[in-house]
Amino acid sequence: MNRIKRTDGTVFTPSKILAVGLNYAEHIEEMRSRRTSEPVIFLKPNSALTSLREPVQIPTQYGSVHHEIELCVLLEKPGFQVSEEKAMDLVGGYGVALDLTLRDIQKKAKERGHPWAIAKGFKGACPVSEFVPAHQVKDVQNLQLTLTVNGQIRQSGNTAQMLFRIPELIAYVSRFFPLEAGDLLLTGTPSGVGPLFPNDTIKAEIESIAAIETKCLGWEDE
Ligand code: MG
Repeated sequence: MNRIKRTDGTVFTPSKILAVGLNYAEHIEEMRSRRTSEPVIFLKPNSALTSLREPVQIPTQYGSVHHEIELCVLLEKPGFQVSEEKAMDLVGGYGVALDLTLRDIQKKAKERGHPWAIAKGFKGACPVSEFVPAHQVKDVQNLQLTLTVNGQIRQSGNTAQMLFRIPELIAYVSRFFPLEAGDLLLTGTPSGVGPLFPNDTIKAEIESIAAIETKCLGWEDE
């Protein structure tokens, strides 16, 4: 089981990683998709977790692997069927995540109406930073997200642009999933997603949370 760390030294083992797709309007446009009336939820397994401080491992034999920078919410209290009003009481911290996606495989799965499990859940598909305690982040719905690849800005957005905001997302997923301490919630990516290749240098930054530069390696280079 993979664990994550908070900057105060607390360690958590997520029982699940929940993620929302299509939560920024410009990303919906670039995916030629449509806005949904309810959040689009998928899961990544714990085995997809890895540290963003380590080189990002890119599978090279299954088509394109896209970067998606996302604000990651750490839940530190359990909850089931929580209201939006109480949702933020569950939150224990925030981190920077990459929702790595095997885009060609996902595209085929979408066309066929199949699940996204492989496209979103492969080994190393969820690099995360360390987590900052929630009380240290002043306004989580107004944070700049920036992802650069080889020094060029690819993604630039702000958490203010989320279509479903964090309390709505937590309340929504808790209708179906009992939330447990350590669970993670990826909150969607702004526009500018694109492919990563071995030897790329990426910098993932969310204001007030973390700015991490790392390299990409191919699976075979491990
Ligand atoms: Mg995503």
